[in-house]
Amino acid sequence: MAFLSDAIARIKPSPTVAMTGRVADLKAAGRDIIGLSAGEPDFDTPEHIRAAAKAAIDAGKTRYTAVDGIAELKAAISEKFSSDNGLDYAPEQISVGTGGKQILFNALLATVNPGDEVIIPAPYWVSYPDIVALAGGVPVVVPCPADQGFRLSADALRQAITPRTKWVILNSPSNPTGAAYGAAEMRALTDVLMDNPHVWVLADDIYEHLVFDGFRFVTPAEVEPGLIDRTLTMNGVSKAYAMTGWRIGYGAGPRELIRAMAKLQSQSTSNPCTVSQYAALAALTGPQDYIATSRAAFQRRRDLVVAGLNECAGIDCPTPQGAFYVYPSIAGLIGKSSAGGVRITDDETFANALLDEAGVAVVFGAAFGLSPHFRVSYAASDEMLGEAISRIRAFCDGCA
Ligand code: PMP
Ligand code: GLU
Repeated sequence: MAFLSDAIARIKPSPTVAMTGRVADLKAAGRDIIGLSAGEPDFDTPEHIRAAAKAAIDAGKTRYTAVDGIAELKAAISEKFSSDNGLDYAPEQISVGTGGKQILFNALLATVNPGDEVIIPAPYWVSYPDIVALAGGVPVVVPCPADQGFRLSADALRQAITPRTKWVILNSPSNPTGAAYGAAEMRALTDVLMDNPHVWVLADDIYEHLVFDGFRFVTPAEVEPGLIDRTLTMNGVSKAYAMTGWRIGYGAGPRELIRAMAKLQSQSTSNPCTVSQYAALAALTGPQDYIATSRAAFQRRRDLVVAGLNECAGIDCPTPQGAFYVYPSIAGLIGKSSAGGVRITDDETFANALLDEAGVAVVFGAAFGLSPHFRVSYAASDEMLGEAISRIRAFCDGCA
């Protein structure tokens, strides 16, 4: 009899986390690597947020708190949903966890029965299918290729829904493509969902504030208030305030779901880090100027990276609306061989050869469920991005 559980055998380690670990190991071994694989802002957490955390420690905020978050933070989150998204969530409808990742994990583990289906548009963030599989559910992956702007269409959604569908996961702006849904595109999806009252909506809004060229962000329950009783709206401070390491994410939804998520959290991690909760409180209630500053920096870097990649032979890079990723195609390189003699058969061989021969770390597209592509995180300095682009260009020029 196998020692490890069937559930753990159904999942794999997160490929984005694994690649970031590999970059750290290679750098520690003295290799000259430019890491564009980590999905986190390269900026420091704003000063006033760090100061609030230090003050919290000195004020003795070092004990356990309520399992799913302190009342002050829930009140601030409730206010955030109201002012940013026009959503009316009472504090009892809010859950705070150790990152948005735990919120998603809790929501899916608390609701998915074996055989239940969860619709996941591809390319998707790597953890969605594995969390669904861990719960015994069936990830129903719907391909959304580049010629559809990497967005799920109303028809594709309608066709994917069955009587066993429990959730659809919508992530806008998206990791890994940066694609986002405008109000009309979101409305087309919410109309389908209104016709299918058994389907719940998991809205992953973690990149909400990172939208460019004046794009207006929308979330499903805002576009269609009729969905509020079957939507979990998830968000967090990781990307908005450069707080990935603090591990605070939150979700809001119907009371019964939020209570079930708290029950699960009470039997696993208990409360998210107390000091981090006070830091998140300062983030949400303090000055918001960091958001505009980082948005402007990311938009400038996006333009630099899209232009640079489109000059590389065999690469085609669409311009995304948000987040800090691009998801170029390498269709033009498939079947060629690199200068180092590696035959590029798919995006994984491409990413490995790029790392070995050019010292640039990216994440291959198959990890996100749509090939042949790769993900570049441009949350890096202009200087590093410029150097990475020249290395990628030289690598592509060497492919024949
Ligand atoms: N959703 C998406 C789409 C993400 O990219 C991430 C970051 N990896 C998360 C959720 C979770 O972020 P965190 O746990 O840091 O809040
Ligand atoms: N969101 C990041 C990424 O996609 C963090 C790593 C992870 O949790 O997947 O790279």
